[in-house]
Amino acid sequence: MDLFKPMGKLDDKGESKLEPTEVERVKCLVIGSGPAGYTAAIYAARANLSPVLYEGLQPGGQLTTTTEVENYPGYPEGVTGPVMMEDFKKQAQRFGTDIRYGIATAVDFSGPVHKIIIDEKKVIEAEAVIIATGATAKYLGIESETKYAGSGVSACATCDGFFYKGKDVAVVGGGDTACEEAIYLAGLCNKVYLIVRKDYLRASKVMQERVFKTPNIEVLFGRNTKELQGDGVVEKAILIKHKGGADETEEEIKIDGFFLAIGHTPNSDPFKDYLDLDNVGYIKTIPGTSKTNIPGVFACGDVQDSQYRQAITAAGSGCMAAIDSERYLSEKNS
Ligand code: NDP
Repeated sequence: MDLFKPMGKLDDKGESKLEPTEVERVKCLVIGSGPAGYTAAIYAARANLSPVLYEGLQPGGQLTTTTEVENYPGYPEGVTGPVMMEDFKKQAQRFGTDIRYGIATAVDFSGPVHKIIIDEKKVIEAEAVIIATGATAKYLGIESETKYAGSGVSACATCDGFFYKGKDVAVVGGGDTACEEAIYLAGLCNKVYLIVRKDYLRASKVMQERVFKTPNIEVLFGRNTKELQGDGVVEKAILIKHKGGADETEEEIKIDGFFLAIGHTPNSDPFKDYLDLDNVGYIKTIPGTSKTNIPGVFACGDVQDSQYRQAITAAGSGCMAAIDSERYLSEKNS
């Protein structure tokens, strides 16, 4: 059987050179393992849908790179992102979710049974698919960012901050993520520069106050990063102050670490040939539901949410996706 031929969208020529090694049929497949994916799995498992969940590139999702979560109801003292995601995972497993390592690399949503390729080799045929692949950190797009990747450039302060203990670092961005990362790094590092392209922070008031109250954070408003320099590792950043203005000037700051915190891109690429996306790449869902334009394919969490992007809203939409899946399957099979 030429299983991949009908998919026709796996490479530029519309064909795949891949030989499937295994085909497995499941009732409900969950792709992704943040709050949305695990919540979908908890609800799907309790509805007897026997969900199989593939964790994706970053098991536990973005929350595993965050510090304290203080706004998720049920944790009055706060909780760290990794601990919270471990709790979600255990709860999904408790009701029988089959949790596996693996990444969805391509899909074929053209027929009544949806085909999903895992790690470019295994084929899952699913009656219902819940996409909870989240979003990924954005980079500035300057050449030196790539040059020093892993040698001073990072998009995750909680993962890499420890390596800069006692040193001077910079965080780029003016949103909640940038403020949170700057505060976290200020607890480890000698000095933290917060590089903000506008003359104000976009972050919530409470985060702004924390930044301004932290003595070793210096906010550099109206600055864009031109490039990073150093001998093998980052040693300084060249900034442009008031870019395009009459008073445009260039300045440099000596730093050992450069942390990106400028937002995220939705992880919708494997689905783009079949699902309706908005102009940024977020999966479009029918308002008030998790339904995509393909019957039996549902989306939840940050991959379909450009507005709220919170753990609690992701979890809520994961619940919606499981309920929508259950209704879809019972209507289909009745
Ligand atoms: P945001 O989109 O809110 O902010 C991105 C920031 O990066 C903005 O200040 C933006 O600048 C700046 N930026 C974007 N592109 C560039 C660029 N090329 N060069 C320089 N600066 C750039 O993303 P966040 O990740 O901060 O937050 C996403 C969502 O998650 C928000 O809703 C936020 O509230 C939420 N969040 C909540 C947290 C919490 O409650 N604990 C923690 C973290 C996030 P500009 O303002 O000029 O556009």
